[in-house]
Amino acid sequence: MRLVTYRERDGGADHLGLVLGERVVNLAAAAKALALPDCHDDMAAFIRAGEPALACARAIAARLAGDSAAGVALGDVQLLAPIPRPARNVVCVGLNYREHVAESKSVQGDAPPPAYPVFFTKPPSCVIGPGAAIPWHGHVSEAIDWEVELAVVIGREGRDIAEPDALSHVFGYTVGNDITARDLQQRHGQWYKGKSLDGFLPLGPAIVTADEISDPQALDLCLRVNGAEKQRSNTSLMIFGVARLIAEWSAGMTLFPGDVLMTGTPSGVGMGRTPPEWLRPGDVVEAEIPAIGVLRNAVEAP
Ligand code: ZN
Repeated sequence: MRLVTYRERDGGADHLGLVLGERVVNLAAAAKALALPDCHDDMAAFIRAGEPALACARAIAARLAGDSAAGVALGDVQLLAPIPRPARNVVCVGLNYREHVAESKSVQGDAPPPAYPVFFTKPPSCVIGPGAAIPWHGHVSEAIDWEVELAVVIGREGRDIAEPDALSHVFGYTVGNDITARDLQQRHGQWYKGKSLDGFLPLGPAIVTADEISDPQALDLCLRVNGAEKQRSNTSLMIFGVARLIAEWSAGMTLFPGDVLMTGTPSGVGMGRTPPEWLRPGDVVEAEIPAIGVLRNAVEAP
């Protein structure tokens, strides 16, 4: 299933939606209309509810599958980030593709690929949705870069999760763009500041549930700036796969439903280019994982 958080164009409330073709169905309203148990109207609550909520959504999908008038056209709603404001910091992994390690010398020096995942975080205030403007922070940074990544949404609480069991804790997958101010990343040593400016984490457009992604290590991913391709790779090239990342992250640390993990970016970022390339006001960035969708954001024009 493909799940979204959306707002009706006339500025109504935010809803949890199920995407059926080119339409989006309000899950809570559909559950009521079909006399099914409450499906929740909020992504975080839906994820916490676990299997009963998924079963309700599957029943709605089955009942409405052939109904071309169900819900509203996707083009008539505003998509928000699937989890508009995560409850905790988003956990990220740096240097998780070998070719990206090689192109990162200007910031990281000549270090070998890491032996263990390099974890850092971005605060919930970074998250913006598909179509939202990436704020322009030109007074703070002159070196704003892009990073397409597979984002993993945790579905089931756990600690000390063993690698073979790790994917059973995944609710689903979405696309993330780990926007980074390279000058701040370098200046402050620790990555938190350069990665955490407001609007620096576009997420979306949808969460595809884990049952539809049989192998998270076989996904193409790419990124375009103003239509020109900058990144193209496959998640098979991660140094640490999703299961290993979850095992390492959860060691001695409880993961909760709705937690989000960014799994690192492949090569092709602006910092690795000669000369380096940075985002400018008005640029349009498209981060894509074809199995999930295209996450399109323009940089705010001041
Ligand atoms: Zn990243």
